[in-house]
Amino acid sequence: MKTVWIFGDQLNRELTHLDGANPVDTQILMIRSRRKVDTRPWHKQRLHLVLASMERFAEELRTEGFTVDFRTADTMSSGLADHRAEFSPTSVRAMEPLSWDGQKLLESNSVEIVKSNQMLCHVDDFATWGGNKETFRMEDFYRWQRKRLDILMDGDQPAGGQWNWDHDNRNPPPKDGKGPWHAVTYKDVDDLDRRVMQSLPEIAVGADPDGWWCTTRSQALGQLDDFIEHVLPNFGPYEDAMLHDEPRLAHSMLSHAMNIGLLHPLEIVEAAEASYRAGKTPINSAEGFIRQIIGWREYVWNVYWRWMPDYRHKNVLANKRDLPPVYVGSSDTKMHCMSSIMKEVDDHAWVHHIPRLMVLANFAMISGVDPWQVTKWMWERFVDGAEWVMLPNVIGMAMYADGGRMSTKPYAAGGAYINRMSNYCKGCHYDPKKRTGDDACPFTTLYWDFLARHRERFGQNHRMNQQMVGLRRLNNLDEVRDRAKQVLAMLDAGTL
Ligand code: SF4
Repeated sequence: MKTVWIFGDQLNRELTHLDGANPVDTQILMIRSRRKVDTRPWHKQRLHLVLASMERFAEELRTEGFTVDFRTADTMSSGLADHRAEFSPTSVRAMEPLSWDGQKLLESNSVEIVKSNQMLCHVDDFATWGGNKETFRMEDFYRWQRKRLDILMDGDQPAGGQWNWDHDNRNPPPKDGKGPWHAVTYKDVDDLDRRVMQSLPEIAVGADPDGWWCTTRSQALGQLDDFIEHVLPNFGPYEDAMLHDEPRLAHSMLSHAMNIGLLHPLEIVEAAEASYRAGKTPINSAEGFIRQIIGWREYVWNVYWRWMPDYRHKNVLANKRDLPPVYVGSSDTKMHCMSSIMKEVDDHAWVHHIPRLMVLANFAMISGVDPWQVTKWMWERFVDGAEWVMLPNVIGMAMYADGGRMSTKPYAAGGAYINRMSNYCKGCHYDPKKRTGDDACPFTTLYWDFLARHRERFGQNHRMNQQMVGLRRLNNLDEVRDRAKQVLAMLDAGTL
């Protein structure tokens, strides 16, 4: 018998690892690694998602007639060795994995590796497009993807006559917070879920799963239909808005399913385009959503492989602060934006991209937190986390730790941005307009302090001209920097 080894983020019958496989001559191997599961403070809902989905996929394959060796082992390597010893497979095959370490694991264990079809742009295609260049413009990549995949195209022109509809999008939330929000459909939590929960290590954090996340392909397809029908039309205008107690707004919440294989990106973008073509979704929402998937997601995937493994250690701003207590859950905070978002992360292991980028990572950057610690934290705490997702998004996009390879300027912002794009500031102890004084917004104080700390570097970046002019005009920078010292001391002490 041959063995096909399936990882916990490759859970789809249509992926190439199972091409031509049948139960007569093929058995399946799946491994739960103690080193992977038990030694890091993963969010319970992340662990549950992967482990329950693996178990349900194994059941589907058993129903098809396959023998599935689903085993727990100290490590992935020892699990493979135990499988080989017990089943003596004639060969072991796996699909190209989604992580650098996974690739090294397969290469060092004599596993036959087949080319993956899990992404729309394979690294070989990216290499053909990008050549030997070291930096790549996301917008160029995105347009190339649109054309070659023939997504939202009318002949050789973009549907609707333009490539990008951002000027119609990214509105603040409605003043009263009320909008066309659509509730999350809860999935049943059954005995299998409870059994998986009971098996989780003590070190796992966060609330137990309550049915937000899909653990089967059929659930994921249902969530996709629901999103296309009820949510997608409003995605564009509110994609950057944030509201206390309304984490979903008009977001798909499908990344968790895509990132473990339950859904393929192509079926998602095809459904979005069909909704536009049927006149149910306006072009600004369809284009904005499709860009997130065939543009940003695939771009992040490819630069991960292009820049690993050195990329893990990028830290050009030399940020050394340990992750503050408010991130690890050992203190509360009077910052309403942070406390609200941290609660949502605790409750469901998820907030959308703007709280991640403009609140959590922005605050870590302007406070000088070590970018690798932030990367690991997001990878562990979010239900859709993976190294390939988090590393470029945190090191490159959010924290400017790669010196501008991915993003030409840092996404640093003070309280004014958060005040404009959310309703967090209304109920806050701090005042977003103030940069000094006991009630000054920590984001605002630290934003100016960050610019002052790095004025030499950013002074040479023409995209930062406006901010640097603003810095030169500040009439109380010394006072701001003194307040910043107090803010950072309170942050480290967990009293901010
Ligand atoms: Fe956050 Fe500052 Fe607004 Fe408070 S005032 S919610 S700390 S941005």
